[in-house]
Amino acid sequence: MTSSIVIGAGMAGLACARHLADSGENVIVLDKARGLGGRLATRRTEYGPFDHGAQYVTARDAGFAAWLDQAAATGLAAPWEQLGMEQTWWVGAPGMSKLVAPLAEGLEIRNPCRVETVGQDGEGWLVACENGEMFQADRLAVAIPAPQAKTLLSGVTPLADRLDAVRYAPCWTLMLSLAEPLEQAPRVYRASDGPCAWIACDSTKPGRSGEGENWVIQAGPGWSDTHLEEDPETVHGLLCSAFESWAGALPEIRSSQVHRWRHARVLKALEAPCLWDGEAGIGLAGDWCLGPRVEAAYLSGRALAGRMLKTQSR
Ligand SMILES: Cc1cc2nc3c(=O)[nH]c(=O)nc-3n(C[C@H](O)[C@H](O)[C@H](O)COP(=O)(O)OP(=O)(O)OC[C@H]3O[C@@H](n4cnc5c(N)ncnc54)[C@H](O)[C@@H]3O)c2cc1C
Repeated sequence: MTSSIVIGAGMAGLACARHLADSGENVIVLDKARGLGGRLATRRTEYGPFDHGAQYVTARDAGFAAWLDQAAATGLAAPWEQLGMEQTWWVGAPGMSKLVAPLAEGLEIRNPCRVETVGQDGEGWLVACENGEMFQADRLAVAIPAPQAKTLLSGVTPLADRLDAVRYAPCWTLMLSLAEPLEQAPRVYRASDGPCAWIACDSTKPGRSGEGENWVIQAGPGWSDTHLEEDPETVHGLLCSAFESWAGALPEIRSSQVHRWRHARVLKALEAPCLWDGEAGIGLAGDWCLGPRVEAAYLSGRALAGRMLKTQSR
């Protein structure tokens, strides 16, 4: 049986690993974070969850749509109803990170396990983690954001040169829990940029319950870039006052925190489903291959697994 290591337990890495495992491969997944899902992220607090990364998922591809339907049948995905919406907005229940749970089920996953170096010996690929653990396999799939993949793989594979073409936008996110509902404010608001490019009442998503309301405010790409290196306290103040200007006087704030995403959404993608070197047995996948969406990450991960399986069966 061929063995594979997948680095990254976001949507791309788990879609890849699931496809390999379902095809009978021996696969292990490594991720540096405590939770699974990567930017499909949910912060749990005493006042309930906040989706501080991806907000919702849409499907254009029939295969991804069918996969979402299956996830919905298990209760881990549900539609987030909005007035006048043209396509279904899917969310994880009770948090966005739950969307990857059906992919992860039954897989061998080690986390937190930050990969520090990768290399080859006569037996295949060797992966060394920060905690001292070492892993070996015939093949390696790297499913992490392009700038991090570039750092890990420079000098290891010529595929790393292809990553220079990819660009990401950053995103500052504010998570605010209010003791009382904001009766008059729209539940969702979107603008092209500025401190409040996305505002959503997270508590209106299915599977979230509790008193009060949790709000997520995401700054746009230009604003986030301008304020990228500012300290979190300053950004927190700026985002809170921008939100208050939008919403009007706020009720009691129970908790608030900010999160800085350095590589949030893909601005310039590779425009290839994945990268694969069949001779060396190494490949890469991620949203950065196809575009700034969870669906792109899923399709890229599946595409890489497909290339790996084809090479094996030659
Ligand atoms: C603020 C924000 C809002 C967004 N909104 C939406 C939206 O509404 N709809 C939508 O479709 N998309 C949205 N996106 C984009 C979407 O979240 C991503 O496209 C998708 O989740 C990317 O999946 P991925 O698997 O390619 O990468 P990631 O989710 O980044 O997964 C990579 C994984 O690799 C791990 N990793 C990295 N380096 C190492 C290492 N050295 N060793 C081990 N593990 C490592 C990370 O911990 C992570 O779990 C948003 C993203 C952000 C940040």
